[in-house]
Amino acid sequence: MNEILDWAQSRRDELIALLKELVECESPSDDAAAVNQFQDLLVAGSAGLARPKFTKSAGAYGRNLRLDFVLPGPRRKTPGWILGVGHADTVWSLGTLQSMPFQRHSGRLWGPGVLDMKAGLAFFLYAMKALRELDLPVSRKVSLWVVSDEEVGSTGSRAQTEALAREASAVLVLEPGTGLDGKLKTARKGVGDYKMSVRGKAAHAGIDFEAGASAIVELARQVARLTEFTDLKKGLTVNPGVIGGGTRTNVVAAEAHAEVDVRVARLQDAKPLDRKFQALKPFDKRCSLEVTGGLNRPPLERSREIAALFRTAKRLSEAHLGRTLEESSTGGGSDGNFTAALGVPTLDGIGAVGEGAHAPHESILEDRIADRVALLALLVRHLGQ
Ligand SMILES: [Zn+2]
Repeated sequence: MNEILDWAQSRRDELIALLKELVECESPSDDAAAVNQFQDLLVAGSAGLARPKFTKSAGAYGRNLRLDFVLPGPRRKTPGWILGVGHADTVWSLGTLQSMPFQRHSGRLWGPGVLDMKAGLAFFLYAMKALRELDLPVSRKVSLWVVSDEEVGSTGSRAQTEALAREASAVLVLEPGTGLDGKLKTARKGVGDYKMSVRGKAAHAGIDFEAGASAIVELARQVARLTEFTDLKKGLTVNPGVIGGGTRTNVVAAEAHAEVDVRVARLQDAKPLDRKFQALKPFDKRCSLEVTGGLNRPPLERSREIAALFRTAKRLSEAHLGRTLEESSTGGGSDGNFTAALGVPTLDGIGAVGEGAHAPHESILEDRIADRVALLALLVRHLGQ
């Protein structure tokens, strides 16, 4: 058996103990103090292994954390470090642990954020620990970048993520793999959102109906129109996910609004889509229409470099871990979207294997911990030559 895999298996319980601590430190995106406390735990978990550096996030979110690993071997002067990318925040509010405690049973580990992505962070720490303890030299610099606001769009960390990625020769994104076989992710859709607000004219629905201009009727027609922007063949979807408006049934509505999620597989489709949104005009001239928003994550497109990086991972996995590795594409975004859009080879979905991200059955497979830790270590060692 491969010595790294062997090492990872022997340290599995120790890793699980760290993961338990990480899950039991709840870290919702909107609670900066909680996220900062979680970052402190990561620093403690990497004591002696990495040098921490905190940076302030733009906005009210928690700090971002960079861990610079101290690894065996002389550092080369060549630029281009290896950057692990993850996030400290989860979608789960404080107190979720009461109904969803950390648990270990049925061959799985359960709890809020265990899959997305506290396990991925623990795996990266242990992969670097493996290189250290087995004295396997790496000549490039290796860092782990942990942002505080990924689940709410990464607005406070994006510029810093991009600046770090520009210096990287490869980015490994510790998001969970796809499905219970843990396929890596070599393509992700770009994500955007639009807000649409309609102002109409209020009137008594019984006495003065014709004097009113219904914002609800106008919005309904707009929603029907923008739904036609969806083009499944292009992987382009438009979803009006939230809608509201009006005050009373006997009032012609003066106000209505909708929030629309858009996804694009190719960056080239984003601008024409945006033009369509900006060109929307009211059907009823007495109503006014305001459209704001746009793309906030570019797509992670499967470039030649990304395909090559995946092939490297697949080859390492087959040769050293005796495990085939597959790739997948997803409609969900991650911070890998930003790094890939800069042209930096990015391999995503290399974190834990499990299911139920953002759902009550969130869990990871215990018997896929060691091979994922080993895969990360093998990749860093290979890419770091
Ligand atoms: Zn995530």
